[in-house]
This record gives sequence, structure tokens and C-alpha cells, in this order.
Amino acid sequence: MAPLLSVVVPMYNEQDALGPLTDRLRPALDAITADYEVVAVDDGSTDGTARQVAELMADWPQVRLIRLRRNAGHQAALTAGLHRARGEYVVSIDADLQDPPEKIGEMLALARRDHLDVVYGVRADRGTDTVFKRSTAGAYYVLMRRLVGSWVPRDAGDFRLLSRTAVDALTALPDHQPVYRLLVPALGFPSGTVRYVREERVAGTTKYPVGKMIRLAVDSVTNFSAAPLRLATWLGVLSFCGCLVMIVFGVVVYAVGSTVPGWTSLFVAVLFLGALQLTCLGLLGEYVARIYSTVQARPTYHIGTDTAARAEEKTPA
Ligand code: UDP
Ligand code: MG
Repeated sequence: MAPLLSVVVPMYNEQDALGPLTDRLRPALDAITADYEVVAVDDGSTDGTARQVAELMADWPQVRLIRLRRNAGHQAALTAGLHRARGEYVVSIDADLQDPPEKIGEMLALARRDHLDVVYGVRADRGTDTVFKRSTAGAYYVLMRRLVGSWVPRDAGDFRLLSRTAVDALTALPDHQPVYRLLVPALGFPSGTVRYVREERVAGTTKYPVGKMIRLAVDSVTNFSAAPLRLATWLGVLSFCGCLVMIVFGVVVYAVGSTVPGWTSLFVAVLFLGALQLTCLGLLGEYVARIYSTVQARPTYHIGTDTAARAEEKTPA
């Protein structure tokens, strides 16, 4: 029988956080139901994380451990967890207690009351994050909302609840580099939010160094926007305009007769070919963008159902 709730916890070298995490996660979940599982995803840790989880399992029977052979990254670890979680509802939460486990009950209650498929944990206060983290995160959400769409929820990270319907829809997509904070809203499920205060990391240091942050930003843009591909088209159009002006200039110089033989034809040909090449690249980009979006196989539209219809759908007669 599928449990009511799965909690997916990706962890990379989090051995020092596991004790405090257990102390808060376990009572928070026990207060909701006994019918839950914790899916600990060890993302190729090189410290004692996996061993400690294995020890935990001895007296916490609801814990399951998935071990990735090498560090695959936070989003990949989440994917592994989502694939293996069996619950009717699945919550993903960080291992470092920056997301308060006590909010899981509120998320579940909201999802069940309003028949929602997604409940986002939204960071109401990032006071404990460093100035660098806050400003890069701020820039990330501004950029994504401009490039991807204004439907991207602000300050909603990877602390969220998904219904079985949403998990099945997500795991059915052939995405190799999913970025869940964009992919989940892109699927357009009925959603709600629970606000929470981002706490300080309980132990250890961040597992998101600048390199991984840039990776996430690049993945986010290339996954959801064809803007970089379209750049060539716009550059091509711009150079054509510039080229026309320069052709007039070249011809005038030629007419005035103050040029060496052959200069005008060479000048015009180089400009024209450059603009032509950029435009053709842009054209290829348009087709590549189309192939890419077809391969991603995301739904092109979402049919909305009202709350009453959803309630009927979710309550078997
Ligand atoms: N994490 C992971 N694999 C990675 C990097 C991070 O599984 O390659 C996990 C990490 O253990 C934590 C969560 O992802 O549970 C969020 O990472 P972290 O707290 O270091 O990020 P920050 O809060 O600093 O952005
Ligand atoms: Mg953290």
C-alpha cells in the first residue's frame, strides 16, 4: 500500500546535519501521520552520510536510503527521490534544516483542503542568508520571470509538496536536466503557497558553491528559453540595417572617386555576407528551438478545472 506521505531529502556530505534533522523531522512527521516514508537520497557523499542514514534506519523504520554512485547534483538527486517516492503526496526538503519540517503538516492540510496538486514553500524572510546569496537569488528570480514567464513564483525554492498526479506528470517527462523550481510551475497544476522563514544552515557549509549556482542558472535559461538561440536572428537583422547604411556610404565614396580600385565591392561583399550568415544562423536557431521544445514534450496547454470538479475527481465515489 502506498503511504500517505513521502518526504524526499537529498543530501550531499550532510553527516553533521543528520542528527538535528532527525530531531525535528521525526516528531513533525509523527504528528501528522504514521503512514509516511522518508526517502533519503545520498548524492554520492564522501563523508559518513550514508552510514549514518543506515544507522538511523535501524530504529526509524520509515526511512529508506537511495545511494547515488557519484555526486549528480541537487536536482538529479531530487529526480531520483521523486522516481522512487511512493506516497500520495511527496514533499521535498533540504537536509540542512533551512526549510522547517514543521511546515509540512500545513502544506499537506492545505493541499487536501483545497484539492491542490502543488504547494510551494515560499521564503518570506531570507534574513539568515548571506548578502551574496540573497542578491544572486534575487537576480535569478528577476531574470527567470523576464526570460521564462511571469508565472514563475518568486522565492519558491525546492521545499514543496506535490500530489501523486503532479509527481507522475513530472517523472513522465523525458527531461535530462530538470530544474524543478521552473518545471513544476510550467506544468500549471492548481497550486497554493505556504510562507516560511528561511532558517540558518544547522551544520556544515553550503553544498552550492558558485560553480553549481552558475550551472543551475545556465540550466534554467537553456531549459526554458529560446532567447539565446534567437540572439543570432536579432544580430543578423541589426547587421543588415548597418550593412545597408554602409553600402550607401561605400557607393558615395566610390562615386566621389576617392578610393582604391576594388575597395567598394570587397567592403560591400564582406558586410553583406556577414549579415547573411548571422541571419541564417538565427534561422537554424529557430528550428533547433522547435526541435528542442518538441523533445521536451511539455504540455502546450492546461485545461483548468474548478475546485468543485477537482474535489469530485479526487474523491472516489
Ligand atoms: N545537495 C545535493 N547535491 C549537491 C548539492 C546539494 O544533494 O550536489 C543537497 C544538500 O545536501 C541540501 C540541499 O541539496 O540538502 C540544498 O543544498 P544547500 O543547503 O547546500 O544549498 P543552499 O541552501 O546553500 O542554497
Ligand atoms: Mg541550504
